[in-house]
Amino acid sequence: EYKFYMRISFSACKQALPLQVNFPGGLNMDQFIPVRRRKDKVVIVMGATGTGKSRLSIDLATRFEAEIVNSDKMQVYKGLNIVTNKVTEEECRGITHHLLGIVDPDVDFAAVDFVRRASTAVDSITRKGKLPIIAGGSNSYIKALVNDDMEFQSKYECCFLWVDVSMPVLNKFVSKRVEQMVDANLIDEAREFFDPEGNYTRGIKRAIGVPELDEFFRNESILDYEMRARLLEDAIDKIKANTCKLACNQLQNIQNIFRLRNQLEWRMYRLDATEAFLKRDLESVEAWEMRVARPATRIVGRFLHK
Ligand code: ATP
Repeated sequence: EYKFYMRISFSACKQALPLQVNFPGGLNMDQFIPVRRRKDKVVIVMGATGTGKSRLSIDLATRFEAEIVNSDKMQVYKGLNIVTNKVTEEECRGITHHLLGIVDPDVDFAAVDFVRRASTAVDSITRKGKLPIIAGGSNSYIKALVNDDMEFQSKYECCFLWVDVSMPVLNKFVSKRVEQMVDANLIDEAREFFDPEGNYTRGIKRAIGVPELDEFFRNESILDYEMRARLLEDAIDKIKANTCKLACNQLQNIQNIFRLRNQLEWRMYRLDATEAFLKRDLESVEAWEMRVARPATRIVGRFLHK
């Protein structure tokens, strides 16, 4: 658990440098001081739903040697890829993802389970000499891992990146995203998890998109076209409203963490992605690069080399 470091006296360099333990001739053991081994580093990407956490973590993983650990409490489950907005294989750009679509849909995956599985994943990534990037919107999972888990705290040093988007802009975006999900077959995907007993308190069934469609699924076969269309419209409106509510709650949680950052001695940086959401096409891609991807790359580069 300990490495030897030698203090060198160049005035320009006051850092401790690692030395190979082959005790070169002429060096006295008194010149070595034992220093607790440097902690491994972990990047944590936070942000409300829809802000682009997955995009940023994949951007970073292509610029540093990294693997991603999912921390979205619904995306850990198998199934509902559209409803929970999991990254597609194409979006992954060959980057290895952990804890994505691995849990049985009706098992409850609690924060303690996340801490156990995420710690194992982070360990395996650092053992490969790669950087673990934890990304996802579930703040209770992140808190359980970095705040409550003493083992994690003792082993890792964290750098937090917060992708922020102005709430009115984000609300508009997530509402449009729900419509795109409906076009991509959200309804049929959610139908698989319709519960005739109306119990949506366990596992993946809690995902926004499933309970909201309950009334529609319950009645779709007995109603005429017009009534069916009205029920569906109501369900879609509820999905939009609940997604916006989720985004607001997540933002409030992150703001609370951000206020505590100095007290907790966490490095936490806010990246404002709003401009990328307001622009279109190439301009949007450029704004993302300038406002989010590039500053984040600089921050992570500094964090890794300090
Ligand atoms: P809480 O303690 O309120 O559950 P949290 O930070 O642990 O907060 P969130 O990620 O904010 O967890 O999720 C809260 C709820 O939002 C989930 O229980 C689920 O109903 C819904 N939800 C979260 N992520 C998704 C998702 N990707 N797709 C659909 N619904 C989601």
